[in-house]
Amino acid sequence: MSEFLPFSRPSIDEATIASVAETLRSGWITSGPKVQEFEKRLSEYFDGRLVRTFNSGTCTMEIALRIAGIGHGDEVITTPISWVATANVILEVGATPVFADVDPVTRNIDLDKVEAALTPRTKAIIPVYLAGRPVDINRLYKLAAKHKLRVIEDAAQAIGSTWQGKPIGSFGDFVSFSFQANKNITTAEGGCLVLNNAEEAALAEKYRLQGVTRSGYDGIEVDVLGGKFNMTDIAAAIGLGQFAQLNIITAQRRKLARHYFALLGNDFEAQTSAQLPPADFESTNWHLFQVVLPESVNRADFMARMKEKNIGIGYHYASIHLFKLYRALGFKEGMFPVAERVGRQIVSLPMFAAMNESDVERTCEAMVAVLNN
Ligand SMILES: *Cc1c(COP(=O)(O)O)cnc(C)c1O
Repeated sequence: MSEFLPFSRPSIDEATIASVAETLRSGWITSGPKVQEFEKRLSEYFDGRLVRTFNSGTCTMEIALRIAGIGHGDEVITTPISWVATANVILEVGATPVFADVDPVTRNIDLDKVEAALTPRTKAIIPVYLAGRPVDINRLYKLAAKHKLRVIEDAAQAIGSTWQGKPIGSFGDFVSFSFQANKNITTAEGGCLVLNNAEEAALAEKYRLQGVTRSGYDGIEVDVLGGKFNMTDIAAAIGLGQFAQLNIITAQRRKLARHYFALLGNDFEAQTSAQLPPADFESTNWHLFQVVLPESVNRADFMARMKEKNIGIGYHYASIHLFKLYRALGFKEGMFPVAERVGRQIVSLPMFAAMNESDVERTCEAMVAVLNN
């Protein structure tokens, strides 16, 4: 039998491994020259916008909310279909999460539902680009401008994605990325935040390191409460090696996505009642290739049977509002019906740059066999 195919696996090349070893031997392993170089490369890619790196793609969003001055009494609108981090950061700063249901086709936040959820207390929107697929960004920023809202784009999955030809992160308000191990490029754990101006960047630097500002040889001052969120040079060395591969990684993922569509075609949806993602090869970086199973299929059974065929299936994500922590805030079943169905039935098929077309073929064959019994 063929070997186990996970749904995701990072590919770290030998040059990157050598660069990590060199960093370890250099005498400087935490935030230093590698972090500065990584931030410089990222900033170039984001059309010269200011970028700061962190030790996760969660604290990036928390820090963006703090920079925007969002806290107690403020409402922040987000999607229930995301990693729970997206909503947790809203609670972390003392603000109130407000969910808007998702679009059944894109599985991203539905901007009509965002408009319906606005109140005089709404201060920000956190849209998530699930699987790397952006929302309608023109409409998003029009809505934000009209209602004077800050936007924190949760682009954790969207490095390499574009909107009307421009890289996600190269325009907009706050844009947050994650470099966690499963993301298209990784630093093992890490993230970065694209900011609007030097004041915001200076605040981001304080929030990521205990609120400290240093000056001269021995000057030190603390004027805000910061945490410990800095990226290490070891992580940045991995990031630099990965970043150099970004275009190759994105192209390979697009090629694999095309192959999924070519093999599954239109018949797949008609025969299995499962739902494919939108076939987009321009803007999406294909972080995930996600199928929504019909309600008649039990997802755990599907995952178990695929595992028997040596294929790993992930799921991203359970609807956040149904977690105990959020139920305790008053959220319950029936509030976001599309998210609830997607959260129960969505699966992520194997998708990573080191995969080849025969892995896609194996996956499609197994999936069709399992869904047709
Ligand atoms: C990965 C991810 C995060 C969190 O990033 P970490 O680096 O793991 O903290 C947040 N939102 C989404 C949509 C993600 O995929």
